[in-house]
Amino acid sequence: MAYLNQKTLKNNITFSGIALHSGLNVNVCIKPAEPNFGIVFKRVDLKENNLVYPNFMNVTNTSLNTTVENEFGAKVSTIEHLMGALFGSGIDNALIELDNEEVPILDGSAKLFIEKILSAGVKVSNSPIKIIKINKEIIFEDEERFISIKPSTLSLDIDFELKYENELIGNQRNKVKVYEDDLTHVFESRTFCLYQDIETIKKIGLAKGGSLENAIVVKNKDILNPDGLRNKKEFVNHKILDCIGDLYTAGYRIIASVQCSKGGHYLTNQLLRKVFSDKDNFSIIEIKEKNLPHTLINRNLLKSIA
Ligand SMILES: [Zn+2]
Repeated sequence: MAYLNQKTLKNNITFSGIALHSGLNVNVCIKPAEPNFGIVFKRVDLKENNLVYPNFMNVTNTSLNTTVENEFGAKVSTIEHLMGALFGSGIDNALIELDNEEVPILDGSAKLFIEKILSAGVKVSNSPIKIIKINKEIIFEDEERFISIKPSTLSLDIDFELKYENELIGNQRNKVKVYEDDLTHVFESRTFCLYQDIETIKKIGLAKGGSLENAIVVKNKDILNPDGLRNKKEFVNHKILDCIGDLYTAGYRIIASVQCSKGGHYLTNQLLRKVFSDKDNFSIIEIKEKNLPHTLINRNLLKSIA
């Protein structure tokens, strides 16, 4: 089977759950879509002007989540973990219907999204995929934080580091090859926060649905979740998941080498805006060769789909 062709789901995926920031219960149905449809959100609670495209140009909020919004003010927030799961599992086309403005947080990671996608199955079309190839290095800096993207031959490498004053989180760094490595640790890694920040976050109206069921909470040297961490680098691995999801707002999978220090949704979005502001920075390529030594879908997931 030509795995380089565009893929969608074989069957609908449905799930419900609490939204992290609004605290409301949201129902979601992800439906298969035709080639070249892309990933599109549909707010079924709104009667009209309810399609929202998860494109970097439509990102209107990057504070503790990634929110996209259409020209009529219809929003979808906290898209990043679902987008990361769709990127990682090779889904090019899908219609995501939801009945409120935020994607449910589930367990705070992409683990359940990946499980749902694998159980629905993946359908391969006859249309070749398109990919974005980065032609020159672009850097976005914000004081001591930075993110850069530069050309790579066939892979998407993400090298991420975070530096926290909190002694338990401290400095963590990890590097993944998105199409080749086993990404279990990335997909299962949960969002996190410091206990001392919770009051401030709630005061600005965010994290109303936050709990130990969907976020790691760190208080000084302790993790308040009774089962502790899922993997040793869960904090930086979660940031890599966010980065993969945010990169998918480019519209297609990317071939590049990304390096980030202390970044997040804002930096990734600013980087994409900079990259796509000049057409010399990138090329969009249609992949027709059937025998490239590369699948652009994570190899470990491919095993479970094939
Ligand atoms: Zn996240």
